[in-house]
Amino acid sequence: VPKPDPLLVVDGVTRAFGGLVAVHVEHLEIQRGAITALIGPNGAGKSTLFNVLSGFDRADAGRWTFDGAPVTGRSAHRLARRGLVRTFQLTKTLGRLSVLENMKLAATGQRGERLVAGLLPPLWLGQERAIEQRADELLERFRLAHMRDEYAGTLSGGQRKLLEMARALMVRPTMVLLDEPMAGVNPALTQSLLSHITDLRDEGMTVCFVEHDMDVVMGISDWVVCMAEGEVVAEGPPRAVAQNPAVIDAYLGR
Ligand code: ADP
Ligand code: MG
Repeated sequence: VPKPDPLLVVDGVTRAFGGLVAVHVEHLEIQRGAITALIGPNGAGKSTLFNVLSGFDRADAGRWTFDGAPVTGRSAHRLARRGLVRTFQLTKTLGRLSVLENMKLAATGQRGERLVAGLLPPLWLGQERAIEQRADELLERFRLAHMRDEYAGTLSGGQRKLLEMARALMVRPTMVLLDEPMAGVNPALTQSLLSHITDLRDEGMTVCFVEHDMDVVMGISDWVVCMAEGEVVAEGPPRAVAQNPAVIDAYLGR
């Protein structure tokens, strides 16, 4: 058993929408260099927790640290610079830009900042070239190189998932939060996405992913965290969590 070495540590994080407490996580640690699966029924608060931790939403209370530094309330842009990035359940691919342009935008930040920065003329051509080179490496790796100059809107659903993952890697993160990376993808591509995830872990990256398919979770996770009604109800090695009564209740309880 490796020595615990948490990269992300969450304490008392709460997010409510009106009267609904979507997330209330007392304590959670994500181990460096491991694949952690975040499971739980629909509405458990998984995406909301990702949103908060990655700076796309605010917490109502709580603190969290990333790589030993307090990062509570930091913007997505600043977290990305520190090495923490996420992907979305519904991909944020911009269909009317080329695949390459989508990749380049991911290098310069998130959301609004990304768009603006990406469309401005480059301040320093060397940097622009480095970004393009990185994009091409990743497109090669994810087998999207042949689509490089096509509109992202012409990609299949599965290819969009690959692009979403490739984009997250533009900033060379130390940790990725993947929200349902396999959802709606055909079985062949699921295998390919899975091996990309284990490759990332084997290269030293820390991965936390939301997934519903328990076979997938069992197959690649080092650790499993189960949420229900906003709270962490169980965590542990995959086999143990799958048999945990609290987990079974969480899924059968609705
Ligand atoms: P999961 O990803 O586990 O399926 P979510 O984090 O998406 O769950 O949602 C958790 C709960 O918070 C759900 O009840 C959902 O309806 C609610 N919720 C999520 N986002 C919002 C929002 N922006 N406004 C209001 N309610 C929300
Ligand atoms: Mg979700």
